[in-house]
Amino acid sequence: MGNPLRVFIVEDEHRIARFLQIELEHEGFETEIEMNGVRALERLMQENYDIVLLDVMLPDMDGFAVCKRVREVSDIPIIMLTAKDEIEDKVRGLDAGADDYMTKPFAMEELLARIRNAMRKHMTVDRIPIDEKLQARNLIMYPARYEVMVGQESIHLTRKEFSLLEYLLRNKRRVLTRDQILQQVWGYDYSGDTNVVDVYIRYLRAKIDERFDEKFIYTVRGVGYVIKE
Ligand code: CA
Repeated sequence: MGNPLRVFIVEDEHRIARFLQIELEHEGFETEIEMNGVRALERLMQENYDIVLLDVMLPDMDGFAVCKRVREVSDIPIIMLTAKDEIEDKVRGLDAGADDYMTKPFAMEELLARIRNAMRKHMTVDRIPIDEKLQARNLIMYPARYEVMVGQESIHLTRKEFSLLEYLLRNKRRVLTRDQILQQVWGYDYSGDTNVVDVYIRYLRAKIDERFDEKFIYTVRGVGYVIKE
């Protein structure tokens, strides 16, 4: 997997900004927070973020204006966040060039789904190949779209779980040792306890094998793990 996605949180309510930061970092994103509209615009001009969560009511410059200015130079995905639920605001946000719009308070799961959706649209626009498909029976992964499905049902995975499953699927039928998995997925030489691999395998099994009552991930005792067709 590549580097974690960088989410720029532009929100002047400290409590909400921190909540978003904690939740998104738990999901494996990198985050930065800005509370001022003008500074947010400056930082967006200078830094490379992957997606912006943009509050509407901000000090010095509101979210609509920030969005409009950013759109003059960039097609970065933007999701507007607001406390208002006015239809004119939604229209105004979308007119300003936002990709999506969420009214506070919102469920984190919904925001994550919208982030994935905005990233997907963005990648399509950029013509990054999004059709690569990894498969074992009816377990299907589209790595570039950050999607995993069993049959028609999509599975929500954290970034680390996703990376682990991707590595197993890219090497399906090949038994991978814990050390191989650690180096590839966790990205460092790990000399101590390899327990973390087993822990994440358990997470994946709970979300996939157990939930769908079908065995994909096999343990090879004393060696490691393998996904079988
Ligand atoms: Ca605000």
